[in-house]
Amino acid sequence: VDGVTEVRVALMAEKRERRIVMVGSGKGGVGKSTLTANLAVALAGMGMKVGVVDADIYGPSQSMLLDATGSKLRAEGQTLIPHQSDFGVPFVSMAQLIEPGKAIAWRGPMVGKALAQLMEADWGEAELLLVDLPPGTGDVQLTMMQQFKPAGAVVVSTPQDLALIDATRAIDLFRQAKIPVIGVVENMAGYLCPHCGEASQPFGQGGAEAAAHTIGVPFLGRIPLAMEIRVGSDTGQPPAANDGAIGRPFTQVAAQVAR
Ligand code: ADP
Repeated sequence: VDGVTEVRVALMAEKRERRIVMVGSGKGGVGKSTLTANLAVALAGMGMKVGVVDADIYGPSQSMLLDATGSKLRAEGQTLIPHQSDFGVPFVSMAQLIEPGKAIAWRGPMVGKALAQLMEADWGEAELLLVDLPPGTGDVQLTMMQQFKPAGAVVVSTPQDLALIDATRAIDLFRQAKIPVIGVVENMAGYLCPHCGEASQPFGQGGAEAAAHTIGVPFLGRIPLAMEIRVGSDTGQPPAANDGAIGRPFTQVAAQVAR
């Protein structure tokens, strides 16, 4: 075999080895699901084959973030078939299996089974699975780390102390399990008033970067608090699908996750 073919064969082999990257946070509501969806869309835009697992079993959001149609999941035998979103990102979410508004009241073992079904869906050629974790350091995190050997974790926090304290706990859990922390993303960092153009910091700014520095993990960037992000998230139109100013911070973080 000539050299070029060797490299191609190696690349193909490399592609087939699927990486799992978790997106976690200490608290809920800090934008973990929003970041997951937009990172996936940005990575797909860079030509990567990426799928999203909505592992927030009790509070699934990906089916709203990535798809405005309210898709249901098909299965072949026991294997779920991920739904192809409009953005080149297949995904699975409990929201596609359970009726809207119905509570998912399961104990740990059932959650573990559900997680396994989502993780073992027919991911086809996906070379990267982004896993949207529930907030905190509970059952899903432990099962993910024990059973699915993630290659790394991204941790999202808003800039204020209350969120950072819990983000630090999440990082500690990953470190204890020897999961590489790819880095910290600061979300809702700074608000640019659409009317007067004045910049303000409702949750402060720079807290996540300082915390990342203190605990010795990379800082991946900040995403501003923006009306367009909230509106896009509520309507199944992730802003990272557009090349504009709102999508750019997501693309910059995504480039670091792709490495
Ligand atoms: P989590 O997954 O951490 O619980 P979500 O991603 O569901 O948080 O975000 C919580 C809410 O905040 C959602 O309504 C989402 O649209 C909104 N949101 C998240 N990030 C931003 C942002 N940077 N700017 C504006 N709204 C945001």
